[in-house]
Amino acid sequence: MKYIVLLGDGMADHPLAILGGLTPIEAAHTPNMDRIAHLGCSGLFCTVPEGMPPGSDVGNLSVFGYNPREFFSGRAAIEAANQGISLAEDEVAFRCNLVCLEDGRMKDFTSGHITTEEARLLVDSLNEALSGRFPIRLHTGVSYRHTGVIKASAAGSMEQLVATECEPPHNITGQEYAVYLPKGPATGLLRDLMEASVPVLRDHPVNLKRVETGKLPATSLWPWGQGRALTLESYRDRFGLSGAVISAVDLVKGIGVCAGLEVINVPGATGWLDTDYEGKVAAGLDALERHDFLYLHVEAPDEAAHQGSVELKVQAIEQFDARIVGPFLEYQAEHPETRLLAAPDHFTLISTKTHAGGPVPFTICGPGIERDALDQYGETNAASGGILLVQGYALTHHFIKDHPLPLTALHGSS
Ligand SMILES: [Zn+2]
Repeated sequence: MKYIVLLGDGMADHPLAILGGLTPIEAAHTPNMDRIAHLGCSGLFCTVPEGMPPGSDVGNLSVFGYNPREFFSGRAAIEAANQGISLAEDEVAFRCNLVCLEDGRMKDFTSGHITTEEARLLVDSLNEALSGRFPIRLHTGVSYRHTGVIKASAAGSMEQLVATECEPPHNITGQEYAVYLPKGPATGLLRDLMEASVPVLRDHPVNLKRVETGKLPATSLWPWGQGRALTLESYRDRFGLSGAVISAVDLVKGIGVCAGLEVINVPGATGWLDTDYEGKVAAGLDALERHDFLYLHVEAPDEAAHQGSVELKVQAIEQFDARIVGPFLEYQAEHPETRLLAAPDHFTLISTKTHAGGPVPFTICGPGIERDALDQYGETNAASGGILLVQGYALTHHFIKDHPLPLTALHGSS
């Protein structure tokens, strides 16, 4: 049997008046996800355990089949794993965004989707300027997403670094950022680091050129998402499967690395609406020649929601459905011994431009999967089926190993 997980990052949302009371998934034209719903079974699952931060790190860990409560160690450490950065015992990895701050506000947490080539030059200059003054080494990631490794012993202690509260910059788009600066034991170090990055970036040729051509500059580092090294039981040991991961973002690829999966880099995968869908599908089909499990992640719906754009979010969902889900349904038609799972990792709300917890809709189909009466994929419909998995990671154990679903009745007494 082949197992294919198709993940639309942040697809789930609340009903919106502008969409006539529908959610973006419901308003979007999604014949392929509807087809999975028709062929199989749908429901809700909690990818973000109560009280944990509703991020793609926690959400994707659940969808991969790992209990975030047991395994989660901070997003930056997961991304670091994919970047080939091994963390020593006394090191903590921070995600360091290149952000655009303007007039005291978080103008853009992506610095206008700065290119990796441009970012690399900025990160090089930051390393040169900061390395003597701070116990940090920066590593270039993709676009605005970079990693800083801090020696805990030189910065107080591991506990202090991990316990410091750092706001994810995508949560505060357009807001005054001063109240969201790091709080807690390592505040001094992190705020000094941010401040020291500003003059290095201000007159950098890369930024001057961006401004000249009407693009947003990267004006500051923004550290967050810190964690120590992540250790996962391998997919082979956990599920008896070899598999592959395809994604534009380090975070999802990092989970793949930690789970012992093959991480396939598709050159045109951007994490945005212009991603190379066909390239991702081709790489996925190729991976299925040698693996039994494929996890294909598309970032664009999440990014569109962070921008607060309903049109772009609907468009991103429609492209995910047509250009990713569609081809794998065709694959399944040709290879009947295939199970498909489509789901988001968490809510990304148009109304707040940020993530939220709560049960999100999934749909699965394939041999041995029981059929329900639902034939459309979406939040309201999935809820009406009555399946709610409080332990979201159990869905993958059901999907792969036929473990019975530990159901909570949605409409029963609480
Ligand atoms: Zn997001």
